Amino acid sequence: MSQRPRVCVLHVGGTIGMVAHADGYRPQPGFLADYMGAMPELLREEMPEHELVVLDPLLDSSDMDPDDWLRISEEIARHYDDYDGFVVVHGTDTMAYTASALSFLLPGLGKPVILTGSQLSLTDVRSDGREHLITAIYLAGSVPIPEVTIYFAARLIRGNRAQKIHNQDFFAFNSGNLAPLARIGASIRVAHRLCRQPPPGPLRPLKLVRKPKVASLRIFPGIDGEMIRRMVEPLDGLVLETYGNGNAPSRDQSFLNALAEAIAPPRDTVIINCSQCHGGRVDQLRYGTGMTLARAGVTSGYDMTPEAALTKLYCLLAAGTPAADVRARIQEDLAGELIADPSQRPRPRAPETASPLADHDA
Ligand code: ASP
Repeated sequence: MSQRPRVCVLHVGGTIGMVAHADGYRPQPGFLADYMGAMPELLREEMPEHELVVLDPLLDSSDMDPDDWLRISEEIARHYDDYDGFVVVHGTDTMAYTASALSFLLPGLGKPVILTGSQLSLTDVRSDGREHLITAIYLAGSVPIPEVTIYFAARLIRGNRAQKIHNQDFFAFNSGNLAPLARIGASIRVAHRLCRQPPPGPLRPLKLVRKPKVASLRIFPGIDGEMIRRMVEPLDGLVLETYGNGNAPSRDQSFLNALAEAIAPPRDTVIINCSQCHGGRVDQLRYGTGMTLARAGVTSGYDMTPEAALTKLYCLLAAGTPAADVRARIQEDLAGELIADPSQRPRPRAPETASPLADHDA
């Protein structure tokens, strides 16, 4: 029996395995399997053994929805005991959402789940996908970081801290609030102090009992109460993407009333405040324009990305959690997605909770 670690490669879709057609790039069934089968690197002794599982249908990640997050998490749970790690080959457009969702759908995860993809299809001679595949498979088998991460452009980033920041540069993902968990160069440097510890118990996939309606809304100058009212009316939850430190218009009472009415019983819509900024944290008590949101009942999302907040909101509501508990749990660190700050007291402009420094280089 081989002693090499075993990695399951789940092909979900994305540019990496796409082929150009007259109507644009589309995933091509069979292409990735043929390509990987012809990669001598994947057969080398120092590589883990791998098996490819192809999801049907293969998707451009722009076509994915919460059912697809669930499909991937169920696939991982089904094969969990058979492998030492998982690589999810996925499109870049919504990779940060899927990575975030998986981190909430798989509590108790004790093995690496690494999402990767590429900016250029493997059909392109300069594709970034080849190295991503090799390194993601290598890391999933040989570097036991028990988290959902994204491997892209020589860095391993926590999935629920990642955002797609470029659609051309190979450096396509970044985390504004957490340095990479590992940097991959001539050597592999793991930032152990940032990585989560293996959980004590077994994998406990989240059981979903309903399909809540959640949305995100990036506020903009000119937004008014009527727009909010119409948008929020059918929703169970909303991620409000605000300016800067978590600020929004405060002079338009109809805007604030629309939020307050949605949040109050009987509607009980959960509204989370996340910043439009790529880095930093929401502090609703710093400016008057944030304080009005706090008074309307908006829940601070602290330093969560909107992607993490949306998927966390979806998962909590889908698991049947009552709205009041969702508001509390949103502010708890479930999978490394935020640094909690339960005080919520007005405080002087002192340094906030010490946080691992973000990485803006490269
Ligand atoms: N539209 C593609 C996708 O997200 C883009 C990519 O993979 O880079 O599936």
